[in-house]
Amino acid sequence: MAFETITKPEDVRASAALTEDIRARFTWDDARAMLAGLPGGKLNIAHEALDAHVAAGHGADPAMTWLGKDGARRAFTYADLAGQTARFAHVLRAHGLGVGDRVFGLMGREVELFVAALGTLKAGMVFSPLFSAFGPEPIRTRMEIGAANALVTTAAIYKRKIAEWWRDLPSLRLILIVGDDAPEGCVALGPAMAAASDTFAPVPMDPEDTALIHFTSGTTGQPKGAVHVHGAVAWHAMTGRYALEMRAGTRYWCTADPGWVTGTSYGIIAPLVNRVHMLMDEGEFDLDRWYSTLQDERIEVWYTAPTAIRMMMRAGDAAAKPYDFSALRFLASVGEPLNPEAVVWGNRVFGRPFHDNWWQTETGGIVIANTQAMDIKPGSMGKPLPGQVAGIVERDGDGVREFGEGEIGELALRPGWPSMMRAYLHEQARYDKAFVGGWYLTGDLAMRDADGYFWFVGRADDLIKTSGHLIGPFEVESALIEHEAVAEAAVIGLPDETAGEVVRAYVCLNPGFEPSEEIEKSIRGHARRRLGPAVAPREVVFRKTLPKTRSGKTMRRLLKAREMGLPEGDISTLESDET
Ligand code: ATP
Ligand code: MG
Repeated sequence: MAFETITKPEDVRASAALTEDIRARFTWDDARAMLAGLPGGKLNIAHEALDAHVAAGHGADPAMTWLGKDGARRAFTYADLAGQTARFAHVLRAHGLGVGDRVFGLMGREVELFVAALGTLKAGMVFSPLFSAFGPEPIRTRMEIGAANALVTTAAIYKRKIAEWWRDLPSLRLILIVGDDAPEGCVALGPAMAAASDTFAPVPMDPEDTALIHFTSGTTGQPKGAVHVHGAVAWHAMTGRYALEMRAGTRYWCTADPGWVTGTSYGIIAPLVNRVHMLMDEGEFDLDRWYSTLQDERIEVWYTAPTAIRMMMRAGDAAAKPYDFSALRFLASVGEPLNPEAVVWGNRVFGRPFHDNWWQTETGGIVIANTQAMDIKPGSMGKPLPGQVAGIVERDGDGVREFGEGEIGELALRPGWPSMMRAYLHEQARYDKAFVGGWYLTGDLAMRDADGYFWFVGRADDLIKTSGHLIGPFEVESALIEHEAVAEAAVIGLPDETAGEVVRAYVCLNPGFEPSEEIEKSIRGHARRRLGPAVAPREVVFRKTLPKTRSGKTMRRLLKAREMGLPEGDISTLESDET
């Protein structure tokens, strides 16, 4: 089944922030004009996100509605958050921290996390978010790599994951505990904030000064610490508007965990810089809760991920029927390839297609996107945003060879956009290796079609070579989930004497289906018809869950290592270990 292009109605196209005209005339001055800036060419992300809006008379605008797991609801204006972050900045200073010091955040979707992130930036210090679900070891490793000076966390997390070892980390001088009480040696954030002033002028930073350290998801190996600068905020402002259709007052929901880059770039910075009214839900994925939230909060722009979308699809169309999604005007997805089936499903159930977009920790923000004015080819990541030049290349000696339309190669970007990482912490050689012949090489394989749309093929590490064919797992996985019994799929290559590699698929079944030889045969038959015998999996193995990172990415390398009895490598970001 080929998926037809989804053509946008004229009124939707006309409503788009990024029109063809703007795209054609774009210059970097347009992006810079989206920022308030500070005198002398300085800036500060927290100033762009909060204080500049307050200064412009928007202090009373709603900035965030927070929904607690247990039904609590709290509302914050821009002035509220500006005041809270000022207090937080004072607390850091009062404890002897200064510009450039590194503050780590370790908690779930709590308001204090926002306050900590932006308060740290306001004080000219560097913020690094961690997943609250990490165990002690991954936390410690990252804080060592990042030479943490302070940590903001909760009493429960401190007790279970930090108390034992933190005194052995010489750089770590301050532990702030959310709430009114703190264990010995730590500082309670509540009273410290209450005693601090709620005004603090954001420290003027050079655009090249470090603002954030983000660790990659660890899907392909050991996580890398990517360094990002204050100047990145120009790209967050711009992509929030052009790729996610944010306007002042837009009711916006980003479902990403704040422990990774999406949760910061598009869960904190881009929405606030664009003065939206965002929603923060403390709870984890729950079908009815999510549908009610979309309906009751009248969400207009929703940024989520393929794993969640597939879970919703799995529950069937009927589950969505009772809800009113009429406020939604833009749906976007990131983090993993979005199967064409999911785009079409979104269009049916929400009346709008999902707009897939592509980026990575290293790029700091969205690079390739399906935007509101574009027709959507289901399965494609879209086109490079204005200011981005993307190519399909192959390493060739000290340079690269560029490919043309329809050819598969490594996705490469011309360096120079504001949110590009400036370093991998302590890994200069690895960083340098990513830049070749005037390109940044992403490690992902892709193809560009005749209309300039980019198509994700797979990670370079996941490519399968079988009987002279090169197979990207995404294509096979997408075909598999079209089968009525299949909810999720992961495809790897296993060594084979004659073919080089053979394709093996792991699948999770939809409710109402049980593993059986018959279903296995039916799935393989479907794949053979869709893909041809050379590409279709030779074996289909049933699993209850697939190994995923905490940011929702399938760890194919782990399936492969386990299958071959090889070392599992770094599994610090593995979410569940049930196989
Ligand atoms: P590591 O680099 O540590 O192995 P990771 O690459 O998964 O982990 P992230 O930076 O969080 O870490 O993820 C970025 C990667 O996610 C991209 O390089 C790409 O492989 C994948 N990705 C993100 N968005 C998309 C998308 N829309 N389509 C396909 N793949 C995507
Ligand atoms: Mg990566």
